[in-house]
Amino acid sequence: AAADPSPLYNIPNVQWDDIGGLSHVRASILEAVELPLKHPKLFASSSLRRSGILLFGPPGTGKTLVAKAVATECRLPFISVKGPELLDSYVGGSEKNVRDTFDGARKAAKASQSNSCVLFFDELDSLAPYRDGRGDGGGAMDRVVSMLLAELDNISSDTNDNVFVIAATNRPDLLDTSLLRPGRLEKLVYLGLAEGTEQIVGILTALCRKFTFEDGMSVAGAAEKVAEYIPPFLSGADLSAVASGGMDRAMARVIEQAEAEAAKTGVQVEEVLEGWDDERCV
Ligand code: ATP
Repeated sequence: AAADPSPLYNIPNVQWDDIGGLSHVRASILEAVELPLKHPKLFASSSLRRSGILLFGPPGTGKTLVAKAVATECRLPFISVKGPELLDSYVGGSEKNVRDTFDGARKAAKASQSNSCVLFFDELDSLAPYRDGRGDGGGAMDRVVSMLLAELDNISSDTNDNVFVIAATNRPDLLDTSLLRPGRLEKLVYLGLAEGTEQIVGILTALCRKFTFEDGMSVAGAAEKVAEYIPPFLSGADLSAVASGGMDRAMARVIEQAEAEAAKTGVQVEEVLEGWDDERCV
């Protein structure tokens, strides 16, 4: 059997067409990633630095999806870690996990064609909470934050490999502010909830792009219903649940029709379904 491809080379497969709205987010992130990729010499020889990106906003608004789409579009390996996964109760364990994560990203970058990769930190707030000089002063969490800052500084001045850090949080207010200094997570991008029919249409269109609609039905019609019946602010994840609910109902209806046909003709339901094209409607 063929060996599994090395996880170092894992390039995701999320197209921007899969994502509704958020075109401002695409433009702003690509600018930060594409420039160093297109002009490596400029970045190596000048004081220009790559800076990391912080995506923030409510849960389910597409932060992970966007980070993957950037890696897909730029053909970059994607390494993803969640803040809490790196926390370790052994003394020095969490710092080591942070260092190992960055080492892994550097390795992935070296192994890739463009000497680059995306390192995605989800739930960053749990790894780098605000240090106010009280509480954990000088304690374990302080050392984790210091290690994270040191690693962010290392990669921003590394002229051989491009490790693009994209971090995400629902609670930017909890983050240590030193993370946001120039050269670190300098670029802040907000992803909000969808509001109103137009934004809902944008997201539902992306989510339903492979569906076929029954005559008289459309994404716009569905979005109007959603906007009418469901609370005014919705995340992409909420709308994904609406779309898959529609899909489930359509499937149930198709099966019902196939069962009726099977009962009439004496053919097995599976055979009836096989005879139909896949384009039964939502
Ligand atoms: P969390 O903060 O909880 O980690 P997140 O912001 O990273 O959430 P994602 O994991 O990217 O959110 O999105 C969850 C799911 O919601 C996606 O898999 C997708 O189905 C849907 N989704 C979110 N935003 C969009 C969008 N703009 N267009 C299409 N689908 C979306």
